[in-house]
Amino acid sequence: RAKNAGRGRVEVYDDDLRQALAAQAALEDGLRRALVEDELVLHYQPVTDLETGRVRSVEALVRWQKPGEGLVPPGVFIPVAEASDLICDLGRWALKTSLTQLAEFDAAGGPGSGLKVAVNISGRHLRSPRLVDDVRSALEASGTAPQRLALEITETVMVEDDAAWARLEELRAIGVQIAIDDFGTGYTSFGQLARVPVDVLKIDRSFVDSDDPRTVELVRLVVGAARSFGLRVVAEGVEQASQVHALQAVGCDTAQGYYFSRPVSADRLPAAVTGCHEIFDATCRFEKAS
Ligand code: C2E
Ligand code: MG
Ligand code: MG
Ligand code: MG
Repeated sequence: RAKNAGRGRVEVYDDDLRQALAAQAALEDGLRRALVEDELVLHYQPVTDLETGRVRSVEALVRWQKPGEGLVPPGVFIPVAEASDLICDLGRWALKTSLTQLAEFDAAGGPGSGLKVAVNISGRHLRSPRLVDDVRSALEASGTAPQRLALEITETVMVEDDAAWARLEELRAIGVQIAIDDFGTGYTSFGQLARVPVDVLKIDRSFVDSDDPRTVELVRLVVGAARSFGLRVVAEGVEQASQVHALQAVGCDTAQGYYFSRPVSADRLPAAVTGCHEIFDATCRFEKAS
C-alpha cells in the first residue's frame, strides 16, 4: 500500500511537471510570435542626477502587450526566453528598437532629446559570439553614436567567462558603456571591481530600501569604491525622498525609481523627464543649499 501511495504521488508530480512544461512551451511559442507580430514594447525609466536633478539617461524595459491580457511584465517571460536562443532575438529587438527610438526622441526635440539609453542584455546573449555584431548593426541602422548606448549585465552571469569579458572590452573600445546591474546580489567582489571592464555600477534595490545603518554604511563603501575605480553609480528602486537624501549624503551620483518616475511608454517620456526635474527641485535640492 505504501508503495502504491508513493507511486501515486510520483504520477501526480509527473502531471504537474507535464503541465508546467506545457505552459512554458506555450509561453515560448507565444513570445516567438510576439516578436514577429510586434506585440513587444519598450518602456523607459529616467535616471536622475542627484547633484543637478537632470536626466541624462533612461533604461529600456520590455513589456509584452498580449492581446486580451494587457501588459505582461518581463518577470513572467524573460526567464522563459532565457531558456533558449529566443532571449538573443529579444536582445536584438531591444537594441534595435531602443536606438531607433532614441533617434526619434532627438528629432522631436524637448526634454526627451539627447538622452542615453541602457539596454538589458542577458547572460546567454553575452556568451553568444553574435553579440558584438548585434550591437554594431543596431548602432549603424539607427545612426546612433555608441557613446549613447549602455549595456546592463547582471553580475551573476559574468563571473569566470573570459570570452564574455573580451566581448565587452571590444564594445567598450568602440565607446559603448557597460553597467553591472543589481550589484550586491551576485558574486562580484570589491576586488573584481578594480579589474572588470565596466563604467557604471547599479546598486540593487534591496540595499536602497533598507534603513539598517549597516546597509547604509555598505552603500557608502560601495559608492566610495566605485568612485576610486572611476565608475559611476546608479541607485535602483528609489521610492522615497528620505532615500534620495541618504544617497546624496553618501555621494551617490544618480538614482532611478518610482519616486522620480515609473517606467513609461515612449510617448510619455518627455513629460516624465520634466517630472523628474520638478520633483528634484521641490524635494531634493536643499542638501546643496547650505
Ligand atoms: P532590472 O534591469 O533591474 O530593472 C529594474 C526593475 O525595477 C524594473 O522592473 C523596474 O520597473 C523596477 N523598478 C524601477 N524602479 C522601481 C522602484 O522604485 N520600486 C520597485 N519596486 N521597482 C522598481 P521590470 O521592468 O519589471 O523588469 C524586471 C527585470 O526584467 C529587469 O530588472 C531586467 O532584469 C529584466 N528585463 C527587463 N527588460 C529586459 C530586456 O529588454 N531584456 C532582458 N534581457 N531583460 C530585461
Ligand atoms: Mg537593468
Ligand atoms: Mg537592476
Ligand atoms: Mg533586476
